[in-house]
Amino acid sequence: MRLRTLLLCWLGLYCFLGIASAQPPVIIDKPILWNDYREELMTEYARAHYGMDITRITPRAVVVHWTAGPTWESAFWTFYHEAMSDGTLNVASHFIVDRDGTIYRLTEETALNRHIIGYNWCAIGIENVGGVGGAEDLTEAELAANVELIHYLRQKYPTIEYVFGHYQQDIARESGLYLEKVADYYAFKTDPGAYFMGRLRTALVAEGLKFWPE
Ligand SMILES: [Zn+2]
Repeated sequence: MRLRTLLLCWLGLYCFLGIASAQPPVIIDKPILWNDYREELMTEYARAHYGMDITRITPRAVVVHWTAGPTWESAFWTFYHEAMSDGTLNVASHFIVDRDGTIYRLTEETALNRHIIGYNWCAIGIENVGGVGGAEDLTEAELAANVELIHYLRQKYPTIEYVFGHYQQDIARESGLYLEKVADYYAFKTDPGAYFMGRLRTALVAEGLKFWPE
């Protein structure tokens, strides 16, 4: 009898955990400006940098960033308009995670967004609010939200194999995913810091995702 009770408890806990982990994270849609002009600029960017005629991606990687700004709104408004001052596609990320772990979705998950040179053709971007002045100050709530969000994306897009920080853009070339047609087009990056990526790796590596050592 005692064994039966124990088994039932175990089964109950297992189901509870199974259901809990299957729950998608709460995501708040907060779309940036999206129109034919943005699609046109996306097409131009994809042709110039990747030699591809695409505006949507098949996700192969998730790239983690920090905003280097104090609020999610400051990042949102940076990404909001279609074009940069030079008339090319504006930078944008698919998600922003606020310091309290709130997840905002800015575009379609498979939109081609400009957030990391060489990988935009296949990478979903997550921006985390913080990193002002290069400080490795992302919060526990941001870490938990990134774990949930990446888990959700991996379940939804089994084509996702890699997770790396923006600062790992060079070593991530080992994936074979790096592609850039414009010579000497490069920007040095430190976001989102090795400490944050190390903890993400510990939390997610069991899911079969590939990380690089921090
Ligand atoms: Zn970045």
